[in-house]
Amino acid sequence: MSSEFELETPSGLKDALRLLAEGNATPLAGGTNLMIDLRAKRQRPSRIVALGHLDELRGIRFDRGKVVVGSRTTVTDLLRSPELVIAGPSLLDAARLFAGQMVRNAGTIGGNIACASPAADLVPPLMSLDADVTLASASGSRTVALADYFLGYKKDVRKSDELITQVSWTHPSPRTANGFYKLARRRGDAITVVGVAVTLSASNGKCDHARVALSAVSPCVIRATKAEHILQGQVPTAELIEAAAIQAAAQCSPIDDVRASAQYRRHAVHVLTRRLVSQIWSNLDQGSAGSA
Ligand SMILES: Cc1cc2nc3c(=O)[nH]c(=O)nc-3n(C[C@H](O)[C@H](O)[C@H](O)COP(=O)(O)OP(=O)(O)OC[C@H]3O[C@@H](n4cnc5c(N)ncnc54)[C@H](O)[C@@H]3O)c2cc1C
Repeated sequence: MSSEFELETPSGLKDALRLLAEGNATPLAGGTNLMIDLRAKRQRPSRIVALGHLDELRGIRFDRGKVVVGSRTTVTDLLRSPELVIAGPSLLDAARLFAGQMVRNAGTIGGNIACASPAADLVPPLMSLDADVTLASASGSRTVALADYFLGYKKDVRKSDELITQVSWTHPSPRTANGFYKLARRRGDAITVVGVAVTLSASNGKCDHARVALSAVSPCVIRATKAEHILQGQVPTAELIEAAAIQAAAQCSPIDDVRASAQYRRHAVHVLTRRLVSQIWSNLDQGSAGSA
């Protein structure tokens, strides 16, 4: 690799934040994106701050009704967490189809968010769970809704001296269900052509909460808010679900590329949103009308 940089190996979070505060330093987590960017000279930091020893940023815990995932938690760690079957099944759907085994072992949830790719697979499930991202710097920390985190293609609200430390969301209620569908050219090791994540909650036979997040069809991962509004507070009949799917397709702005045309992507958003909302709603304990 022809880029030259100093490699810093901080012993803890405080030390890492101090190094980032000194300027022109880039965090390194699993390296599955960053090493490629360095090789291609898309990033030219003079210092790299390796997060490999920061065990405090790794792992999944449950704290006062919240699911809290440290930013250095790998995709393999997610797959090894049986609690996520209830607390975030859509995240497991995404993790199962993520890259190949070697990249899953190294790639982290924090790195997946921080790369701000429109095709980042862990982001739609997290966005549909209303996840928050916590950012820390030497001068303090702040929490941002993941839905507000991305500003555009590979642009986000993170400042250069900030680290993502954790991602968190409220533990879903028993009448909440979610799922993620990744459309790609192969089942394994393939970049997403269209990703759709849906979370629905039911009360008294109606959908009282709906989230639909879309990837690879806009400059960054987005929420299909018009589709959500159509579903919320209603009984999701086939006609209503179709109307929501049409709105989801209308809200995205896909491009043509080597993997698919914009037209195909928009069509896939329509079909997959309809399919996922129908499946999730029919598998959900809907709480019959009149019950508590
Ligand atoms: C062969 C291959 C297949 C892939 N397949 C997929 C796939 O199926 N789905 C998918 O979504 N992605 C895929 N990727 C992309 C990549 O593996 C993921 O985005 C991964 O989650 C990145 O995490 P990382 O820990 O390796 O990040 P790194 O490469 O270490 O970092 C990526 C970026 O995030 C920054 N960063 C990392 N951690 C933090 C932090 N805690 N705070 C602030 N900034 C941080 C880095 O500075 C860098 O700019 C693939 C990559 C390869 C090489």
